[in-house]
Amino acid sequence: MILVSACLLGHNVKYNGGNNANELLQKYNARGRFVAVCPECFAMLPVPRPPMEIQGGNGKKLLAGKAKAMDKDGMDTTAYLLTGARKLLKIAEAYHARVAILKEGSPSCGVHNIYDGTFRGRKIRGAGAAAALLQKHGLTVYSEKDMTVGRLETLLAEDLRRDRV
Ligand code: SF4
Repeated sequence: MILVSACLLGHNVKYNGGNNANELLQKYNARGRFVAVCPECFAMLPVPRPPMEIQGGNGKKLLAGKAKAMDKDGMDTTAYLLTGARKLLKIAEAYHARVAILKEGSPSCGVHNIYDGTFRGRKIRGAGAAAALLQKHGLTVYSEKDMTVGRLETLLAEDLRRDRV
């Protein structure tokens, strides 16, 4: 099975109560190989919730205890991001998932870049906390921006093949 950020599949779990519905991923969801996941929901954060950003680095640094997460109201949310990441890893293990497709830019799900912690719309390179933890445990993590019809067909074919062996 392939883990996919729930907001990309149209679930209203985004911080503002909306979603990031992605037409291509929603279409491929019909094949039945995706597991919708939201690390921030797994951490019991409410919907809606104030936006959060990692300060002092990226998700890898957060996992190492060298950065923290804050929400826009000034609350330290580091523990929530860590909890969400750990719960996501447990789900990945339960499904024997080797691949995840996560929402770019999020402090949890971001894959190639995240916001820089200033709440000014600026981005830095690096993954969010949950994406970084999956990568650390050997999963291949893509963002929705990496997805094409060709890549999805390949990923789904490989996923089916893994199930059969
Ligand atoms: S934590 Fe991930 S799945 Fe949940 S709303 Fe944010 S980007 Fe989407």
